[in-house]
Amino acid sequence: MARMEIKNLMKRYGQTEVMRDINLDIKDGEFIVLVGPSGCGKSTLLRMIAGLEPISGGEFLIDGLRMNDMRPRDRDIAMVFQSYALYPHMDVERNMGFSMEIRGDDKIKRKQRVLEAAKVLGLENLLSRYPKELSGGQRQRVAMGRAIIRDPRAFLFDEPLSNLDASLRVEMRLEIARLHKRLGATMVYVTHDQVEALTLADRIVVLEGGNIQQVGSPLELYERP
Ligand code: ADP
Ligand code: ADP
Repeated sequence: MARMEIKNLMKRYGQTEVMRDINLDIKDGEFIVLVGPSGCGKSTLLRMIAGLEPISGGEFLIDGLRMNDMRPRDRDIAMVFQSYALYPHMDVERNMGFSMEIRGDDKIKRKQRVLEAAKVLGLENLLSRYPKELSGGQRQRVAMGRAIIRDPRAFLFDEPLSNLDASLRVEMRLEIARLHKRLGATMVYVTHDQVEALTLADRIVVLEGGNIQQVGSPLELYERP
């Protein structure tokens, strides 16, 4: 769980300012969905939270601690990408446990933790498969499993379901909602899909042209007369 404070955040690429005056308080365990037209800054904001993109101005805090100059791996945040980013030469078990392997955790501990996460995601029977032997939905599950295993205080999702076909998208959306209930972790989720935004979000943040245009619960944003 993590509380995030975004204060007057600004982003420049070269001389061009692409985001400004971003202010947002994200509560412990809250599910935030970022929406807005292409180019409005959703990915940039997510990447600044993850530490993959330097912050040009303002402040980003987690649980009161300034993150601006902290390396991604020290932020204790996991990011799930649309492209899955699985290692093709590793089976599912190794893909899922790889962060623990890098950290130097022993094999028994890894196996145990991978198995736990695999059960949560229904991957128990696929542990010895390779990514190319998996469906899109299964690959996305492995990518989520890899994030869960790190037991991060927050999860970031960058359009995780947009490569999936419609029925799988529904299935995985429910999976993510279950995961949020079960883990209670803070989540920030970028999507173009209004149904995903309405069903997953505690609060929806609407970005436009590098600014926050609106913030509110799904009810407040979409069901006003
Ligand atoms: P979104 O994710 O909402 O589609 P992005 O965060 O990718 O938007 O982009 C926000 C703005 O920043 C866009 O105008 C985009 O062209 C610009 N931008 C993103 N990445 C870079 C970059 N590496 N260099 C220069 N401009 C960039
Ligand atoms: P998405 O559709 O997920 O928002 P994009 O296709 O816009 O991503 O961007 C893909 C990559 O290209 C990102 O890493 C982004 O930072 C970079 N990028 C986006 N716009 C620009 C730009 N105008 N100049 C340079 N890099 C950019």
